Amino acid sequence: MTSKLPLETFQKLLGEKNVLLNEADKAPYLVEWRDKFKGSTPMVLRPGSTHEVSEALKLANKEGLKIVPQGGNTGLVGGQTPKFCGSELVLSLSRLNKIRSIDPDGYTVTVDAGVTLQALHDAVEQHDRLFPLTLGSQGSCQIGGNISTNAGGTAVLSYGNTRDLVLGLEVVLANGEIWEGLRTLRKDNTGYDLKQLFIGSEGTLGVITAATLKLFPRPISTEVALCAMDSPAAALQLFTLARSQAGSMLTGFEIMPQTGLQFAIKHLEGARSPFTQEHNWYVLLELSAGSKTIDLSSATENLFSQAFDLNILSDAVLAQNSTQAQSFWRLRHGMSEVQKHEGGSIKHDVSVPVAKIPEFLEEAIAAVKSYIPDARPVPFGHMGDGNIHFNISQPAGADKAEFLSQWDKVNEIVHGIVIKYNGSISAEHGIGRLKRDLLPKVKSTVEMNLMHTIKSALDPKNTLNPDRVLSADRL
Ligand code: FAD
Repeated sequence: MTSKLPLETFQKLLGEKNVLLNEADKAPYLVEWRDKFKGSTPMVLRPGSTHEVSEALKLANKEGLKIVPQGGNTGLVGGQTPKFCGSELVLSLSRLNKIRSIDPDGYTVTVDAGVTLQALHDAVEQHDRLFPLTLGSQGSCQIGGNISTNAGGTAVLSYGNTRDLVLGLEVVLANGEIWEGLRTLRKDNTGYDLKQLFIGSEGTLGVITAATLKLFPRPISTEVALCAMDSPAAALQLFTLARSQAGSMLTGFEIMPQTGLQFAIKHLEGARSPFTQEHNWYVLLELSAGSKTIDLSSATENLFSQAFDLNILSDAVLAQNSTQAQSFWRLRHGMSEVQKHEGGSIKHDVSVPVAKIPEFLEEAIAAVKSYIPDARPVPFGHMGDGNIHFNISQPAGADKAEFLSQWDKVNEIVHGIVIKYNGSISAEHGIGRLKRDLLPKVKSTVEMNLMHTIKSALDPKNTLNPDRVLSADRL
């Protein structure tokens, strides 16, 4: 395969050591976190600058080659994994890893696409600023990947999705042209907002090489609590109360079921429940204040006292220090990982209007249980923005492959209920390959036609991420 490819030209453009050919070197780029998607590639390209990305794409486009952009490889819908066809080249952005500039007064930062989210957090913290995007994968995922997937995470409630945090982009188009759109302006109504095309397009329209992002003041004080309750209906009552009492100071509201907490305590080293007895459901609640004049501790105590008076809460533990707060967040961020240790898990990343979450959960859990009676639902996630990771672990001791063979049927059951509640079948992870064939079922013909028109206009030779998001059949 490699003999037909312009290997030497790629090596000349990027340097020999940045064109990986050896199977062992390529291996980490060929499988994703869940082991659900695997593939092969004749070579992994590792450009070190925007110019090199541009040269690589010019060559690929000219030769009719297919390119799969890859960031931190933490995506959960198979977008960044090459297929087994052997004709897709992986383009890794990892070497584009510089913080280009930080403007603390203008509250902006400009970074290369391959900077990890954690490295960005650390860099802006040194200037007493906050970049609020927070994901369990932040040690590995990259800003380019976050933007390409329009990642959500635990801070959407206060700061919005990644889309709301981007001011400007630098993008290499499929034909190698560079769009220099690194604007820092908060207001700019000069024609179409082109950056929005690339945000959330999962590498199908262009390769993001750099971004200018919004920064925020760091909260002066934060309170984190783990709350226990009987039902999602009680969690919704708590959410409504907390929002009305704390307004924009409510910065986190994450729900977890008892099964999820049990898994976390069993599989996360050193993890323990702060409660003396078990409860059906838990909420991790975070309040933050940006001013010294706000007594956050009294506000939190007042909120809990009302919640107990209204019989919303069964119990609640307020973190006594930042170490305990981190241990509460660790339980929540560990939710995805711990399910791996319990065998097969059938996943759904869905959203419904917040007020419908209790009904949705009740109906979806009952429907799954009636199909697989001993299945163990672990629905958890960003309740404050309506996003539930409706995951179902296999019955204890069941055959993993047999359980996972029911993936499509279970998806159909759960997504049917999501649609009934006017929800979304992909709240934050995107479409990739996993949900590509579901997309036409939930989008109108007009929407599908518009998406295909945009793809054909920007990437007429279907060079970038073919068969992700949109089916190649129609291009
Ligand atoms: P990759 O996985 O490498 O790629 C993802 C997609 O973007 C692919 O289609 C790829 O082709 C494309 N892409 C990557 N970089 C570029 C680029 N520079 N230009 C163009 N296209 C590009 N997601 C959430 O939204 N919220 C969560 O709370 C969350 N929690 C997670 C927790 C865990 C433990 C894990 C493993 C994943 C989680 N994710 C979450 C999913 C994942 O971390 C995000 O989708 C993340 O934004 C992907 O970034 P990445 O750099 O790893 O991208």
